[in-house]
Amino acid sequence: MLLRMSTLFLRTLREDPADAEVPSHRLMVRGGFVRRAAPGIYTWLPLGKIVLENVAAVVREEMARIGGQEVLLPALLPREYYEASNRWTEYGDSLFRLVDRKGADYLLGPTHEELFTLLVKGEYSSYKDFPVILYQIQEKFRDEARPRAGVLRGREFHMKDSYSFDIDDEGLDRSYALHREAYIRIFDRLGLKYAIVSAMSGSMGGSASEEFLAETPTGEDTFVRSTGSDYAANVEAVRTPAPPALPIDGLPAAQVHHTPDTPTIATLVDHLNGAGLGRTFTAADTLKNVLVKTRAPGADDWEILGVGLPGDREVDLKRLEAVLHPAEVALLDEADFAAHPYLVKGYVGPNALLGNKHRYLVDPRVVEGTRWVTGADTPDHHVVDLVCGRDFTPDGTIEAAEVREGDPSPDGTGTLYAARGIEIGHIFQLGRKFADAFELDALGPDGKPRRITMGSYGIGVSRVVAAIVEQSHDDKGIVWPRAVAPADVHVVGTGKGEQIEVALRIAEELRDRGVRVIVDDRKGVSPGVKFTDAELLGVPTGLIVGKGLAQGVVELRDRATGERSEIPLDSAVDRVAGIVRADRG
Ligand code: ATP
Ligand code: MG
Repeated sequence: MLLRMSTLFLRTLREDPADAEVPSHRLMVRGGFVRRAAPGIYTWLPLGKIVLENVAAVVREEMARIGGQEVLLPALLPREYYEASNRWTEYGDSLFRLVDRKGADYLLGPTHEELFTLLVKGEYSSYKDFPVILYQIQEKFRDEARPRAGVLRGREFHMKDSYSFDIDDEGLDRSYALHREAYIRIFDRLGLKYAIVSAMSGSMGGSASEEFLAETPTGEDTFVRSTGSDYAANVEAVRTPAPPALPIDGLPAAQVHHTPDTPTIATLVDHLNGAGLGRTFTAADTLKNVLVKTRAPGADDWEILGVGLPGDREVDLKRLEAVLHPAEVALLDEADFAAHPYLVKGYVGPNALLGNKHRYLVDPRVVEGTRWVTGADTPDHHVVDLVCGRDFTPDGTIEAAEVREGDPSPDGTGTLYAARGIEIGHIFQLGRKFADAFELDALGPDGKPRRITMGSYGIGVSRVVAAIVEQSHDDKGIVWPRAVAPADVHVVGTGKGEQIEVALRIAEELRDRGVRVIVDDRKGVSPGVKFTDAELLGVPTGLIVGKGLAQGVVELRDRATGERSEIPLDSAVDRVAGIVRADRG
C-alpha cells in the first residue's frame, strides 16, 4: 500500500471542531479520518476507512479461529419478526421505523437476533447440525437519545454481531467461553486496556453476561473494581452482600414520635438526637422510602412501588431502571399522592404500602432483625424501632441504592472503587428467549425435538476505533498501535526538489517489501506543516528525507516514544522494514 499525500483525499484541520468534547472525536475529525454527515452519523474518509478495516480484520481472524462463519444479513427488516420477539415494542424510541410504499412497517436493524434465529431455523433441523456460530460486520441503526463524541455513540455504527446456536446448556457455555477468549485476543491485539465486567443483560433477558470496557476517563460507563481482587462490575450489576439476620428477641417495641419540621433525613436525625431517646442516631439508622411507579411494556397502567433503603444512601436511578427493565420507571408526582391519600408525603412508612397492597422492596442491607426510624404514615410523625421481620415484612429486596467507594466488594475481598470505561464488547447467553419466540428446534438423537439455546455477542467496531484513540494520543495527535494504524511508515519529503523524489523512491521500495506507506510528496508545503500533519495522523514510524540528504542521511522517528535518530540513506529501507517486521511479530 502506498498513499501519496499530494493526491490523498484528505484535509487536516488546525482547529478543533466546535462540537467535540472528547479527544477521539477531536483528533479523528482534525486528522480527516471521519466527517460528520448528520447528528450521530459519520462518513469514513480514506484513512478512517483503512483503520476501520484493520480493526475488522483482527475481529475476522479471531472469529474464524473459534469457527465463526461470516454472513451478511439485511439491515432493512420487516416489523413482523420484531413483533414476534416483542422488541418492536421494547425498543421504544431507539428504533428507526419506516413504512414502505404499500404501507407495511419496517425497521433498520439495531441488532439481529430475530433474523439469525430464523436463518438457522430455515437451514438446520438435526442435532447433528449443531453447534454453529454465525457472525456479520454490518451497520447498525439506533436512534440514540444522546448521540455523542463522534463515532463513540453514533446513530449509525459498525458492529460485529455473532450468534451461537447450541443443542444444550453445556454447548452454550462452550460457545460463550470461546467468544470470551476470542474477545480477549481481539482487544489484546488491538492494544486496548480493558476490564471485563459482569453486566445486566437489559432487554435481552438471559443469564451470563459480560461487558468489555475500555478504561478511559471519558468513558460513559462507570464501573467498580475491588482493591483486593480482580472483581470488576458494572454499577448496575453490583449485588450488595446482605449482612446476616439479627435476633429479634429483646428488641424494644416500635414507638411513634411527634417529629414536626423534619422534612429531610438531616433534620430528622437532629430532632431525634435532641429528643433524649438515650442513644445517638445517624442517617444510617433511618429507613427512607422512595416511591416510584412502574409500567410494564405495552401496559396502560402504572403500578406503585415502594423502595426502602438506609437513609444515608441515595437511590441510583440507573440501577433501579436496570433491575426493573423492561418496565418503565417514574417518580410519583403530586397527582399520584392526591390519588393515594394514605401515602403521606415525607412520612411514608412500610405499612401504608404493604397494607394497601403496593409492592414494597428493600435494600439487601435491610435484613430481619434490623431496626429503623421511618415514616409513621401520619403527617409530622416518625416511628422508632420499627423492626424488619417483626413490624413489617417486605416483599423482597431490590438493588436500587447507590454503590459507594469503600463498600465491601461482593466477592468478599477488598472494597470497591470507581473507574470509567467505554463499552467495546458485550457477550451474553441469551438462552431460549429467541428460540422460543421463533420455535427453533432440532431433532435430538432420540427423535424428539430439542429447543436450541443461543448466545449473542457484539463488538462495536467503529466505537473501538475511537476507544483506541481515547487511550492512545498525546497533545499533538493520535498515536496508533501498528495493528490498526492507517500505515506503517510516514515518509516525509521536505524541500523543493530531490528530497521529494528520494522520499517517493524510498516509499515505493518499502511498498514493494510489503510495508504500508504514506508519503508526503506535497510540493510547496512547509516542513513544519508536514511534521504537524504527520504527528496528527499518528503513523507509528516516521522517516524524514530532508536537509541531511546531502550527507546521505535521513531521520527515523518513533511516534510513540518521540525518539529520533539519523540513519544512512542506504540502509533506511532495510531498517524500516525490519522495525515493521519485528512489530508484527
Ligand atoms: P451502550 O450501553 O453503550 O448503549 P449497548 O449495551 O446498547 O451499548 P449492545 O447492544 O451490547 O450495546 O451492542 C454491542 C456493542 O455495540 C456494544 O458493546 C458497543 O461496543 C457497540 N455499540 C452499541 N451502541 C453503539 C452506538 N450507539 N455507537 C457505536 N457503538 C455502539
Ligand atoms: Mg451492551
